[in-house]
Amino acid sequence: MAKIQMKTPLVEMDGDEMTRVIWKMIKDILILPYVDLKSEYYDLGLVHRNETDDQVTIDSAEATKKYGVAVKCATITPNAQRVEEYNLKEMWKSPNGTIRAILDGTVFRKPILVDGIVPYIPTWTKPITIARHAYGDIYKNTELRVEAGSKAELVVTDKDGNETRALIHDFKNSDGIIQGVHNLDDSIASFARSCFNFALDAKEDLWFASKDTISKTYDHRFKDIFAEIYENEYKAKFEEAGIEYFYTLIDDVIARIIRSEGGIIWACKNYDGDVMSDMLATAYGSLGLMTSVLVSPSGVYEYEAAHGTVTRHYYKHLAGEKTSTNPIATIFAWTGALRKRGELDNIPELCEFADKLEAASIKTMEDGVMDKNLSLISKLENKRVVDTETFLREIAARIA
Ligand code: NAP
Ligand code: MG
Repeated sequence: MAKIQMKTPLVEMDGDEMTRVIWKMIKDILILPYVDLKSEYYDLGLVHRNETDDQVTIDSAEATKKYGVAVKCATITPNAQRVEEYNLKEMWKSPNGTIRAILDGTVFRKPILVDGIVPYIPTWTKPITIARHAYGDIYKNTELRVEAGSKAELVVTDKDGNETRALIHDFKNSDGIIQGVHNLDDSIASFARSCFNFALDAKEDLWFASKDTISKTYDHRFKDIFAEIYENEYKAKFEEAGIEYFYTLIDDVIARIIRSEGGIIWACKNYDGDVMSDMLATAYGSLGLMTSVLVSPSGVYEYEAAHGTVTRHYYKHLAGEKTSTNPIATIFAWTGALRKRGELDNIPELCEFADKLEAASIKTMEDGVMDKNLSLISKLENKRVVDTETFLREIAARIA
């Protein structure tokens, strides 16, 4: 069978530990036999990030801007222990944070649904995609403890030196705490556009919520920016696609999400997205089945698995043991990227291949073949726990 030819290269970001091992296996067993892969390779493994003073991360993000589509392996975000383990020159920043800052993107997380893995909310028969605004609010805060007898104010100095002051609290009788947070109209607008574009792509309704009844200026600004961009740029397109944009209060959206059947994109402010994405990952069953894509407002896509480098399994692998690690979310990162490349370059065979590989992956799990962690929650009767490589070969055998 002739291999599928590509036109524009895919940006390939390799990573660390167990996922790095799986990365190569996926390419060898599931991609290279079928696709004449054109990729621009960046090694984001911690060793090479350290050798290049993290320049490789920046270069990979710039290449993603240039070509439009990337696929990323999970990477270690160094902490003090990793600095020692890898003898690092510095505690390099999270590659995902660096890439997100350069692409100005929004992260969309979507679970893969398979028979046998029943969500904790059994009425969720379709995936719920979470879009988290990954800028500002409490993640870029300034906070202080305040002594009794102090008065705390917000002070803004404009470009001419004029001050605007507003009382936060007069701490007459008790010690206390204060916090300053901010966001940017530009960042909120980018977030909104990424969400509207993603909803049009997925042909799914978009819900957005904040607490604008309490936060009448701050959260209200989010609501207004979304509404304005929707009216001016997206309303007609949404109507044409037969989908809806819907704003409500965060409390109300929680009630609606729980009662829904899924099939929605849920746009969240930074904190809501942080917390709710963890809730959804657990509720849908498994981190090994959670996909993630970073979408920039200019239409650049970076696909990855939501899970990390699966360190514990890697140490077993190093000790010469066979691991049973779930490769599915990483496979879906590849299929997402290949399909998008196919769409952008008009290569229908590449899109079809991505569809087939996803179908084969799901069929494998629904035939009862899976990793150990998935088998612990699967309700299927005939389960066969396999090692990582066998899992991939079983998938390959099902590519129709
Ligand atoms: P993790 O790698 O996601 O693993 C946490 C645990 O979840 C694993 O030990 C394993 O449980 C289970 N698990 C996750 N993915 C699995 C899979 N594909 N198959 C089977 N089991 C899976 O998270 P972590 O241990 O907190 O972080 C490890 C490293 O990953 C850290 O250095 C962190 O910086 C990095 N990280 C990177 C990213 C990213 O690049 N996007 C995201 C998160 C974390 P059992 O051990 O019980 O089998
Ligand atoms: Mg979280």
